[in-house]
Amino acid sequence: MAWDFETDPEFQDALDWMDDFVRREVEPLDHVLGSPYDITNPRNIALVRPLQQQVKDRGLWACHLGPDLGGQGFGQVKLALMNEILGRTRFGPVVFGCQAPDTGNAEILAHFGTPAQKKAFLEPLLANEIVSCFSMTEPQGGADPGVFTTKAELDGDEWVINGEKWFSSNARWASFLIVMAVTDPDRPTVDRMSMFIVPKDTPGVEIVRNVGFATEKEGSHAYVRYTDVRVPKDHLLGRRGEAFKVAQVRLGGGRIHHAMRTLGRVKMLFDMMCERAVSRETKGEKLGDKQMVQEKIADAWIQMEQFRLFVLRTAWRIDRYKDYMQVRKDIAAVKAEMPKVLHDIATRALYIHGSIGISSEMPFADQVLQSFHMGLADGPSEVHKVTVARQLLRGYSPSNTLFPSYHVPKLQAEAEEKFAEALEHIDDVI
Ligand SMILES: Cc1cc2nc3c(=O)[nH]c(=O)nc-3n(C[C@H](O)[C@H](O)[C@H](O)COP(=O)(O)OP(=O)(O)OC[C@H]3O[C@@H](n4cnc5c(N)ncnc54)[C@H](O)[C@@H]3O)c2cc1C
Repeated sequence: MAWDFETDPEFQDALDWMDDFVRREVEPLDHVLGSPYDITNPRNIALVRPLQQQVKDRGLWACHLGPDLGGQGFGQVKLALMNEILGRTRFGPVVFGCQAPDTGNAEILAHFGTPAQKKAFLEPLLANEIVSCFSMTEPQGGADPGVFTTKAELDGDEWVINGEKWFSSNARWASFLIVMAVTDPDRPTVDRMSMFIVPKDTPGVEIVRNVGFATEKEGSHAYVRYTDVRVPKDHLLGRRGEAFKVAQVRLGGGRIHHAMRTLGRVKMLFDMMCERAVSRETKGEKLGDKQMVQEKIADAWIQMEQFRLFVLRTAWRIDRYKDYMQVRKDIAAVKAEMPKVLHDIATRALYIHGSIGISSEMPFADQVLQSFHMGLADGPSEVHKVTVARQLLRGYSPSNTLFPSYHVPKLQAEAEEKFAEALEHIDDVI
C-alpha cells in the first residue's frame, strides 16, 4: 500500500526553517522593495543578496533543478511543499532562486541549449546574475498561436527577426528574451515556428511600453517591437520548426509551479480570514459565531484542501513519470482550477473584512485581480479545460446500440439471465 500523506522528518526540518526564515526575513522585503526582478537596483542588492547566500548555505537554492545544474534535484513533491511557503511573498521565489519565468526559461535552456548557449545564458540565469523574459504572445492573439506573425528569416549567418509581442513579462529587467517566431510559414502551425535567444541590447529590440494591471500606470508586461533584429545563427534554441516542443517543456513546469505558489497565497488569505472571524464582533458575538461566516470558512477550507491534494498528486505524478506530456491532463486541470480557487478564497476573505477588506490597506482586492492573472497567463482556463476533456474522452468508446450500454432494462435482463440458475429454487422476496 503506497499511499502516504506524510513528509519525511528530515525534510520537514528544512520546511520549518524555510517557514520561519520567510516570515522573518523575506516577507518584510515586499513592503520596502519594488520588483523582485530589478536585480541591479542597489536596494535589492543590499537586502536580497545576503538572504540568497543563506539559502545557498542551507542547500536550498534553485531546488527546481537537478544536481547537474546546481540544484538539489528534490523533485516536484518537495518543490510543491517549498513553493507553498514561498508563494506567500513576492520575494520568496527570487530569494530561493526559483522565480518564474526564469525557472521555465532555465529549463528549456538546460534541455535544448548548446554548450555555448548554456554558458552564456543559463549559468548567469541560474545564479540570478541576470533575469530573462519569454516573448510569445502577440497583440492580435495569445491563445491561438496560429495567428502569430512575428517572423525570423535567415540572412547569411544571421536570423533577422521582425514583429511585435505583447505581455512579455519582465522584459524591462531581462538581459535576454526567448522569442517565438515563424520560420516556415507554409508548414502546419505546430511546425511553423522556432525559438530564438535574443539579447535585449540587440539593436532593433524596442519596448513600446510597459503595461500594468488595472489602474497601474506602468507595469512590467512589455509590449515589445522587434525591427530587423539580427542574432547569430546559433541563437536558435532547439531545432528549426520545434518551438512548440520547446515551449511545452517550459509551460508544463511553469503551470504547476504557479499552482504551488498559489496554494501559499491561498493559505495566507485563509489564515487572515480566520483571524478576522475570531477577532471582530458584531451584534454581540464574534463573526466566527455566525453561521453564514462559518459557511464561508468551511467552504474555503474544503476548496483549499481539495486543490492542495490535487496539486500534490500532480507533482507526484510528474516525479513518477518524469515526463510532463504524460501528466498533461492533470497539469491542465490544475491550471484551470487555480484561478477559481484563488478568486473564491480571496473574495471571501475580502468580504469578511468588510470595508477595510476592499481597501488598498489590505491585500485582498489585489489577490482577486491576481486570480485573473492566474487564469490568463500560460493560456486561458477554457483552453486547458478543452485539453482535459479531450484527454478524458479518449478513454471512452462509443456505444453502437440505440439505447446506452448502461440502460437499466438491458442491465436487468442480463442480470436475471446471469443469476437464473442460482435463484431458480428461491422464492422471489423483492
Ligand atoms: C499577467 C500575465 C502575464 C503574462 N506573461 C506573458 C509572458 O511573459 N509571455 C508571453 O508570451 N505571454 C504572456 N502573457 C499572455 C498570456 O499568455 C495570454 O494573455 C493568454 O495566452 C491569452 O491570450 P490573449 O490575452 O491574447 O487573449 P485571447 O487569446 O484574445 O483570449 C481572450 C479570451 O477568449 C477566450 N478564449 C480564448 N481561446 C479560447 C478557446 N479556445 N476556447 C474558449 N474560449 C477561448 C478566453 O476567455 C480568453 O480569456 C501573460 C498574460 C498575463 C495576464
